[in-house]
Amino acid sequence: MPLVAESFDRDDELSFLSTVLDTVDALVIALDRDRRIVRFNRACERASGYSAEEMLGEEPWMLVPKEERRAFELIVDFLLAGNVPYSVETHWQAKDGSRRLIAWTNNAIVSDSGAVQYVIGTGIDKTGQRDAEEQARRNDRLLRGAIDNTDAGIVIFDAGGLAAIWNSAFEAMFPGHALSNDGSLHLTDHLKERIGDLDDAADILGAGSPIEFGTAGERTIRCSGRRVLGGGTILVHTDISDLKQAQAALEKTNQELEQFAYLALHDLKEPLRSITGFCELLREKHGGDLDAESNRYFDFVTDGANRLTTLVQDLLSYARVDSEDRKIGRIDCRETLEEVIRHLESEIRQSGAEIEAGPMSPVWADHAGIRLLLSNLIGNAIKYQEGGRPRVRVAAENRPEGWTLSVKDNGIGIDPRHADRIFEPFKRLHTRQAFPGSGIGLAICKKIVDRHHGRIWVESAPGQGATFYVALPTRPSEDRANL
Ligand code: ADP
Repeated sequence: MPLVAESFDRDDELSFLSTVLDTVDALVIALDRDRRIVRFNRACERASGYSAEEMLGEEPWMLVPKEERRAFELIVDFLLAGNVPYSVETHWQAKDGSRRLIAWTNNAIVSDSGAVQYVIGTGIDKTGQRDAEEQARRNDRLLRGAIDNTDAGIVIFDAGGLAAIWNSAFEAMFPGHALSNDGSLHLTDHLKERIGDLDDAADILGAGSPIEFGTAGERTIRCSGRRVLGGGTILVHTDISDLKQAQAALEKTNQELEQFAYLALHDLKEPLRSITGFCELLREKHGGDLDAESNRYFDFVTDGANRLTTLVQDLLSYARVDSEDRKIGRIDCRETLEEVIRHLESEIRQSGAEIEAGPMSPVWADHAGIRLLLSNLIGNAIKYQEGGRPRVRVAAENRPEGWTLSVKDNGIGIDPRHADRIFEPFKRLHTRQAFPGSGIGLAICKKIVDRHHGRIWVESAPGQGATFYVALPTRPSEDRANL
């Protein structure tokens, strides 16, 4: 069967071959018996930077790096002797001095007598591939150098879950445990052995929240994971034992300090009660004998003692938020609001305040805490007014961010610049003469909210009233069942 159509004559055939040769990506070069170049296609021009015009009729030595010249001559001799086909990789030196790596497959055109007339080299330029491989090796060395120079135990698992790279810190953290019997470490086995419950492990791999676990050497390790490109996983283990110990020591000191403050405040109540009581008695008995100035001094002493009593009471309720054992349960917020309104009855009557209740969704929380929170927020809403009639709206709704309580007033408002400061103890924006208070109320609210793992904030502007918000997680989790 003919390989070409009959209409395809010899001229057509020649221009066909010529077009093909100059179109293909492969380098095609042909040498005659005198080692002169007789064919130098476009791919050769591109790889070498020399034109066919420059190269045809020339010997090919200028294409060969000096140190490879001898080897190249031997190869050409070998081919001319008829040893074809023959594959070899050589370098070409381009006109601009750069080097290219070419993989050659060589063949020959042989005369009827069997003598080689031309050798033909067909080459693939592998420079890009080689550079890419070298770059990959460099990156690999860089990556290993980087992970070996960190204290964190790092292990990278491939998409199949097998450990592909890990560092010496990882081996040191899990001595003898790093690899399983067959010499490989599987992600699931690693996590199962440390954590037991793989659902927890899904957390660290999915949401990216770290988990903590202990090791045989009584160390505490924090492990965080990330999916990496290509479906692999990287786990980073940090030894946080020292941090944990420092944290525990700090918590203990804090508890001791809180206990100390609580007892000291408690003990202050009694002498304070004596001061105010005996001052009253003294005034009753001798008030009439004293001049106006002495009576004013009495007023100062009584006022000072009263202020001190309020401060001690406020600080005690601040300390109590932590020291008292509080249990959480389902709270009917409407009922709690009514309790608070009864408690604030005299303030409400004196100011003529109007308290409106919006939707009041129930919440799982500590009852005494929520009552104190509402009492402080509503008390402030009534207090921080410019003389008008206070209007306060209270609502509790279930929103995507959790159960949300809002207490909105029509009072003096707050400059947003101070919106965070006011939740710190003793931070007040006014003098005691303008508005009485000790600056503890909102700090108590924040402490209560923190214990519920919630958030408290205010939205306001001067003269525009203020709305205080409290968001609590909708449902308590086991660790919060006992606050
Ligand atoms: P106190 O009322 O005893 O000063 P708080 O901790 O309850 O202490 O409040 C801190 C400060 O926040 C107050 O001194 C006041 O300046 C500001 N503040 C609190 N609630 C309101 C409110 N509803 N409107 C305007 N300012 C407020």
